[in-house]
Amino acid sequence: MSQKHRNYIAGQWLAGASDIENRSPSDTNDLIGLYAQASRAQLDSAIDAAHDAQKTWAHSGIEQRYKVLMSIGEELIKRAEEIGQVLSREEGKPQAEGRGEVYRAGQFFTYYAAETLRQLGHTADSVRDGIEIDVRREPVGVVAIVSPWNFPMATACWKIAPALAFGNAVVWKPANLTPASAVILGEIISRQDLPKGLFNLMMGAGSEIGQALIEHPGINAISFTGSVDVGKGIAASAAANLTKVQLEMGSKNALAVMDDADLDLAVSCAVNGAFGGTGQKCTASSRLIVHADIHDAFVEKLLVATQALKVGHALEPGTQIGPVASEAQLQANLANIQSGREEGAELLTGGQRLERSTSGFYQAPALFVGGRNSMRINREELFAPIACVIKADSYDEALSLVNDTRFGLTAGIMTRSLARATHFRRSARVGCVMVNLPTAGTDYHVPFGGRGDSSYGPREQGRSAVEFYTHVKTGYIAAGAPL
Ligand code: NAP
Ligand code: MG
Repeated sequence: MSQKHRNYIAGQWLAGASDIENRSPSDTNDLIGLYAQASRAQLDSAIDAAHDAQKTWAHSGIEQRYKVLMSIGEELIKRAEEIGQVLSREEGKPQAEGRGEVYRAGQFFTYYAAETLRQLGHTADSVRDGIEIDVRREPVGVVAIVSPWNFPMATACWKIAPALAFGNAVVWKPANLTPASAVILGEIISRQDLPKGLFNLMMGAGSEIGQALIEHPGINAISFTGSVDVGKGIAASAAANLTKVQLEMGSKNALAVMDDADLDLAVSCAVNGAFGGTGQKCTASSRLIVHADIHDAFVEKLLVATQALKVGHALEPGTQIGPVASEAQLQANLANIQSGREEGAELLTGGQRLERSTSGFYQAPALFVGGRNSMRINREELFAPIACVIKADSYDEALSLVNDTRFGLTAGIMTRSLARATHFRRSARVGCVMVNLPTAGTDYHVPFGGRGDSSYGPREQGRSAVEFYTHVKTGYIAAGAPL
């Protein structure tokens, strides 16, 4: 009998209306556990409890908030190895990446612990004599957090930590593909000195409990990371209730490799950006835009590096690329690879399903050459270990190809020219720009987000998070009134 895991609602661990199985994408015979699916009535009770708890939490004082956030962060950091194993087992990323993600998740809490103590606001003189003004921030109330499976801990924590730090209550719906790490985080938060109901874990299907959560009139703000289609639906539901909303969605990021680039560095950044995390990163570089003068030399080295990647079980030492997340994702990848070939791109290597000693969703990293930016594989986010090289005759052409997309999360350039790097940093229409670095890999203390179809609403992370998780209040005080 596998262990059943429950939701944390209004301060209690509760069984759901039903359970789902969580199996490892590295080995479908590895059943991690059964996970409760919250009911609609439980959602109502979580939101009611959250409103009550939030009033207490808002007046708990900044040292109390500091202590709680610090304690969660330190525990995540201390247990990064152990929790990282669980994350890798259920999501499929290699152990080093699972451990690294949990460590990073902890850093979001320690960072926002410190932010609770940084209460410097601003004051002003009124244009009217004898009146003083102060601008203060107040919590928004109950925040709905909906997170994806690809960074199940990091994404959730970069939302939950600032939500709590700025005095809010949380109702969190993690992705159903990765509930095990969610339950561990919920368990850590449940042991803190928090008002009952301040933090709620609501596992369940996005289309059911997720949809009910974001449509709920009791929610004051929605923070979502996931796909564009779901994001658009959430924006529409938020508009109907005039609920504050923040969306981080997909992208189709490009790495431009110039004729003056360090080729070995360019290859290593391309491989990291395109295939790291099995290509299932919103910051992945699936378009490799390469200057014609070094195109053949770059492709030759990239082919060798791609074929050398070790694809295998996430928990096996030496694995560099784990399985893709699900059978459905693998089937979609195979169909996209077929569609790339039909459009006329040349599949240089990979793209086929791989057999390993355990039954998992293994795919050889696919490298296309001879691509055009107009091809569907270069327009749509595939969220897969699939990259396509597109030739450009000049820096100007490369830049215009980089910007020819409806998305705009990250972009990178490989060059030794300061002038080009500077021009690119200023001209790439994205939220995060990288020079001589992979397009993936961002810090936790600075803003993260994009433009176009990649992001909507206030920025996440760093000091920017305060914009979403608080309301601004401008206070006028007639200081010169007679005593
Ligand atoms: P998804 O299908 O949009 O799901 C994201 C989350 O939304 C999951 O928790 C999902 O629940 C839930 N959901 C689905 N339908 C919903 C609905 N109608 N109402 C409310 N919630 C709903 O995306 P995914 O496949 O998990 O994640 C991959 C996507 O996330 C990619 O497009 C990727 O680019 C994006 N991503 C973006 C960032 C970023 O910061 N920009 C970071 C990571 C990932 P269930 O899964 O349980 O159904
Ligand atoms: Mg799973």
